[in-house]
Amino acid sequence: MTEFSAPLRLRMDEGALLSNWRWLKRQGGDAACGAAIKADGYGLGAVEVMRRLLGAGCRDFFVSNWAEAAVLEPLVTEGVSLSVLHGVREEDLAVALASRARPVLCTEWQIARWRHAGGGPCDVMVDTGMNRLGLDWRGDVPARLAGLEIATLMSHLACADEDGPLSPAQLERFSALRGQVKAARYSLANSAGICMGADYAFDMTRPGIALYGGVPRREAAGHIRQVVVPEAQVLQRRRVRAGDTIGYNATYRAPKDMQIAVLNLGYADGYLRCFSGRGSMSAGGRHLPVVGRISMDLTAVDVSGLPDISEEDWLEVDYKLVDAAAASGLSQYELLTGLGARFDRVWR
Ligand SMILES: *Cc1c(COP(=O)(O)O)cnc(C)c1O
Repeated sequence: MTEFSAPLRLRMDEGALLSNWRWLKRQGGDAACGAAIKADGYGLGAVEVMRRLLGAGCRDFFVSNWAEAAVLEPLVTEGVSLSVLHGVREEDLAVALASRARPVLCTEWQIARWRHAGGGPCDVMVDTGMNRLGLDWRGDVPARLAGLEIATLMSHLACADEDGPLSPAQLERFSALRGQVKAARYSLANSAGICMGADYAFDMTRPGIALYGGVPRREAAGHIRQVVVPEAQVLQRRRVRAGDTIGYNATYRAPKDMQIAVLNLGYADGYLRCFSGRGSMSAGGRHLPVVGRISMDLTAVDVSGLPDISEEDWLEVDYKLVDAAAASGLSQYELLTGLGARFDRVWR
């Protein structure tokens, strides 16, 4: 088989990933620190992320569905737990019963299905105010869960990335449930919840975005390191004359003679059109603004006055998540999970 090397790559920093996990773990005090690796490890590659976090001592992992779990099962050895957040549909039952992963039961139907199948240990999601997945916290939860062997009882915070009354209310509701429902462990906090203090940590935390370089709250700024740097290769360098336009719909008109570099990167790779005129690249500390519209597979940047940038050079996309989110209007989550399949994913 021919080995292709792609003209675009994600450079991923293992040291930063592990440093972020350790910082998040410390914030939780004695609580275990797991990892949300759904959506293919937020776009980085779930297998590669899980392998590295296992090496650092992480033992609890979370994915959304059974297809994601199947890929990771070979890494689930003694003492490692993998939970499937969306629970178990009828179509999933045979796979779930044979899997080393556990369902996070979210609905009464799922609970009935699991009980009837004699499914063994499970996790349970209780909704404490987000109104997304889980049993309603007001709905006699202890009675509904009677007889289940619950490994982790969990809930999820709706607004932990901002200050407001809902997080403390969810904390209080979840604390009350802990006194009423027997489980081996209790878990509430995502990345932002971890930043709100050890009260939110319970027995285990479940960070996702902050592992991968997202800064969910100001408390994490200066502690969380960038993990992912996209890079793209210059396909052509060209002169653009004053008055010429660049790209689809001619949205950019050159105010003077310019030099541009056309890169192998576009919205099909997750570099969306909202970066048109707002994104930038870097080359040796120099700032190269995007000019014109982002195409499906191509992006142009201004390299005027930088004669050393030439065809086949690699340029770094400015992708610090907080800054890129501010520039594009996308969330830090979208910025990562949108990164496409055409990147080579290179760890160092
Ligand atoms: C995705 C997810 C997490 C991780 O959330 P982040 O905000 O990325 O830290 C934790 N718990 C549940 C239930 C999730 O769905």
